[in-house]
Amino acid sequence: MGAIQGSTYDRERVSRVTKEHTYGTWRKQGPWNPLVVERAEGVYFYDKDGKAYLDFSSQLMCSNLGHSNSNVIEAMHRQAEKLAYIQPSYTIDARAELAEELSSVLPGNLDRFFFGTSGTEANEAAVKIIRMYNSSSGKVKIISMYNSYHGSTAASISLTGDFRRIQAEPDFGINGVVHAPPPYCYRCPFGLKYPDCGLACADYIEYMIKNEGNVGGLIMEPVTGTNGVVIPPPGYMERVREITEENDVIMVTDEVMSGWGRTGEWFAVDHWNIKPDILTTAKGITSAYFPLSLTATDRRISEYFEDHYFAHGHTYEAHPVGMAAATAAIREYKRLNLIERAREMGKYLSGRLEELRERHPSVGDVRSIGLFAAVEIVRNRETREPFNTYRDKVEGRPLMTDRIASEMMKKGVYVNTWVSHFVIAPPLIITKEEIDAGVSAMDDALRLADSEVK
Ligand code: PMP
Repeated sequence: MGAIQGSTYDRERVSRVTKEHTYGTWRKQGPWNPLVVERAEGVYFYDKDGKAYLDFSSQLMCSNLGHSNSNVIEAMHRQAEKLAYIQPSYTIDARAELAEELSSVLPGNLDRFFFGTSGTEANEAAVKIIRMYNSSSGKVKIISMYNSYHGSTAASISLTGDFRRIQAEPDFGINGVVHAPPPYCYRCPFGLKYPDCGLACADYIEYMIKNEGNVGGLIMEPVTGTNGVVIPPPGYMERVREITEENDVIMVTDEVMSGWGRTGEWFAVDHWNIKPDILTTAKGITSAYFPLSLTATDRRISEYFEDHYFAHGHTYEAHPVGMAAATAAIREYKRLNLIERAREMGKYLSGRLEELRERHPSVGDVRSIGLFAAVEIVRNRETREPFNTYRDKVEGRPLMTDRIASEMMKKGVYVNTWVSHFVIAPPLIITKEEIDAGVSAMDDALRLADSEVK
């Protein structure tokens, strides 16, 4: 019995057995040297030696409420004690409560909910829904964006617009996904400048719809997450919504990362008052206390499935503990006014990060919306030449962002990195002093990049 209790394992054993027998995510397995973590509280997590780390990215931009929230933990505990599992054709109080809580915060007419266990599954379901809904018209093609991430299984990796899809091709994935240029103004795919560009990237979507034929869906992250907190310029989202409506294309907004107060609104689409036909989300829905995802469909789609067979489902669909965790989490966002707080604290974070741009020649761009920010580093500010490309990552060459993040870890600050940028997305409960501590660690560590600037 003793052997299965974590406390009898020393750090070296946990690390060695983990590394030998379990896979580390998105990496070559050889050089992996996992940090052994013991516990977490508030905006901190602690390794097995008791060292504290400020969680400047809410782990994978998911622990929005912070760690050890006792109301969420108690709700999960109560539900597990009463009923830990029941098959999803039956229902329970917590599922009805969650449906009502969701209706109170989701935009538009999103009134029917499919519950999976990951963002990947939520998007996988969205693709299937688009194709089932359009089965008689044959509008099976889906437009997605380059520089996006939507998940790691067949449909969702095909939607993905970064190198993770390239790695999976050509044998793994689905047909009929075409990619559009993203509204990434710092690296405009057309080499244009806003507003003179006239939103060429949005118009290009219409061009694609006309020329591809049979486009039935469009999926996008309204604020791109892992790939750099790319915030569309004013007018872009409105134009895309117009194009999808005019062409009868189902618009899916993937709010797996951008939802749940992260951007200073419940959902990123709320910034532009966009009402998508389908919204997918996960992560913050339970603040990562339980694996749960949501595919929410608007009334038109919900009604279609009234008399069409919905050939989709999972054993862990609408898991009781997940239902309880999400209901409690949403009530915590409300009780603690975390959406407003993210907006307020986001202004403070943004100001502090702008100082980094002024001080460090290696900082090419700073983007932020609410408590969701990216600091993108470059070797040359004028040419915007990056320190690394995705090839360096895949082939295992050391990345400048990883070197900086390791330096920050030594100082007790964790930040998420992705090739050329840092994703700063702390728990929404963070204080100004804690933001200062995170920014100060980055301020020091950026010297590593400054010294190699051309
Ligand atoms: N969509 C977006 C926008 C994401 O950020 C992620 C995860 N980072 C996913 C989908 C996939 O979610 P999951 O990892 O829960 O499968």
